[in-house]
Amino acid sequence: MFFHVLTLFPDMIMDGLNTSILGKAMERGCIRAEAVNIRDYTLDKHLKVDDYTYGGGAGMLMQAQPVYDCTMAVLDSIVKRVADQTTENTTGNTTDNTENVLKDETKASCGNATDAKKTRVIYVTPQGRVFDQKTAQELAKEEDLIFLCGHYEGIDERVLEEVVTDYISIGDYVLTGGELPAMVMIDAIARLVPGVLNNDESAQTESFGNGLLEYPQYSRPRIWHDKEVPPVLLSGDHKKVEEWRLEQSLIRTKERRPDLYEKWRESHL
Ligand code: SAM
Repeated sequence: MFFHVLTLFPDMIMDGLNTSILGKAMERGCIRAEAVNIRDYTLDKHLKVDDYTYGGGAGMLMQAQPVYDCTMAVLDSIVKRVADQTTENTTGNTTDNTENVLKDETKASCGNATDAKKTRVIYVTPQGRVFDQKTAQELAKEEDLIFLCGHYEGIDERVLEEVVTDYISIGDYVLTGGELPAMVMIDAIARLVPGVLNNDESAQTESFGNGLLEYPQYSRPRIWHDKEVPPVLLSGDHKKVEEWRLEQSLIRTKERRPDLYEKWRESHL
């Protein structure tokens, strides 16, 4: 999976993504990420990328030209990379077996081949459908994803009409820029890519994986502040532990997210 983030603040993206679990996953080659500076594509001699909005009103708007050229350049780079991969895969079999074995292993653990023509371009915007775990699961199946980050008052509508395939929000509030929303989505998507988490099972059993919130969890010591770990978790009886966890998930979801609980009930009872 290759994340391409189109932004005016590339350092913010790469500083955020290069740390912790995602940083390690990048080192292992399970995911890749690049932050592409939209300003590098402006044709304005003063490197301007924004201007006043027609019709008046406060604030500046990102202009169409740099956003369009930047998006096209990234789409072209994806098409070129896929073409190169296809050539390597067809010619490489006879020339370098070790390399191919490694490539196949990486492919098996890190996802499917790209159809570059269908690459999704996501504009992160408060005006989009709200991002959730189901959307993360859907997007984790893609090989390349382009995130377009707005700033100021947003982006000229005409370029959005030409390049964007998906409008996605992280919630009903307005932030100053699209960088944090893009990073939120990338984090949630990346951890579903095989090989990113050490234990792939943990992504499946977490909150929302089965439509419920996760059960409470405990670690050592067994007693802390006079509070004891529920004895069933020390019993070694896996069936009982599973039953207890489902029961706790149901109680917690009913209490904290009655909307989710109702949905789960409708599909299970
Ligand atoms: N004028 C826009 C509106 O009222 O819909 C808001 C622009 S906002 C100040 C600047 C940029 O931040 C947006 O173009 C978008 O990329 C990003 N952004 C802000 N809030 C967001 C949210 N809740 N979800 C996703 N992106 C958001």
